[in-house]
Amino acid sequence: MKKSFIIINTFLVVFSLLLIGCQPTSPAPVGKETASLKVIAAESFLADVAQNVAGDRAKVDSLIPIGMDPHAFEPVPQDVAKIVNSSVVIINGKGIEWWLNKILTSSGGDHLVITACEGLANREPREGEKAEGEAEEEPDHDEGDPHYWLDPISMIHYVENIRDGLIKVDPDGKDVYTKNAEIYIEKLKNLDADIRKQVETIPEDKRLIVTNHESFGYFADRYGFKIIGTIVPSVSTGATPSAQQVAKLVDHIRSTGASAIFLETGTNPALAEQISKETGVKVVTDLYTHSITAADGKAPTYIDMMKYNVKIIVDTLK
Ligand SMILES: [Zn+2]
Repeated sequence: MKKSFIIINTFLVVFSLLLIGCQPTSPAPVGKETASLKVIAAESFLADVAQNVAGDRAKVDSLIPIGMDPHAFEPVPQDVAKIVNSSVVIINGKGIEWWLNKILTSSGGDHLVITACEGLANREPREGEKAEGEAEEEPDHDEGDPHYWLDPISMIHYVENIRDGLIKVDPDGKDVYTKNAEIYIEKLKNLDADIRKQVETIPEDKRLIVTNHESFGYFADRYGFKIIGTIVPSVSTGATPSAQQVAKLVDHIRSTGASAIFLETGTNPALAEQISKETGVKVVTDLYTHSITAADGKAPTYIDMMKYNVKIIVDTLK
């Protein structure tokens, strides 16, 4: 399945490059509008964060449309063109953009790739977190857990990497990027303090979460939650649990007293509902974890996304 995808992908890359090559050369940039740096970030939350750092010196677009799952994204020829036409490509890293590697290596183009999570340490599942017999990681996600962004303190590190990358490509903007990063880091620190305050209202023995896939690890480590289990026993969304794994999760929920399963938007709730019938846990849907929403939605920025999720988690568990 994945091999055939890579072959198709390679074809798309070559085809897109031919198309781009056939187009007339664009005129030299004139004026502020066209002279500004073109930046593309893989995920929408990453684009929002990067735009805060870039300010008006660059236009940051998101490659993955709002609401789509980055674990399973399938780029089309237009996506290749977007990458080729950008001066900077920002990715989260740790293998979540496995589908992008081929494009980045074969598309050429003169762009800097910023890996936002570079330098952050991988987490190991804590004791009692993984039920026995859980699935091995898929080969595409053998780099570890990529979900650092759900921890605002790790996001500070993302901001620093993005700032340094932008300065490398656009040294004249150093002061602007440095100042913008400073302002945004302050906002992230406030967000962290706000989350801590809210989490304190949940009794310690109730800080237990069950999620769809293993996405809340860094968040849990930061704020003292325990991950009781995940429906999909993987840091990706692509795996399917066996009946035995579901049975183990049911047992684990019963023995720990976890009270809710939190699902991301776009997740099929069928299995969670089945587990809910067996255990009595509440199923909470529509957390925004891998994408922000449109401007008129509930989580149009990264900070809104975090606040929205924390409010739902706290209201459910306290
Ligand atoms: Zn994920």
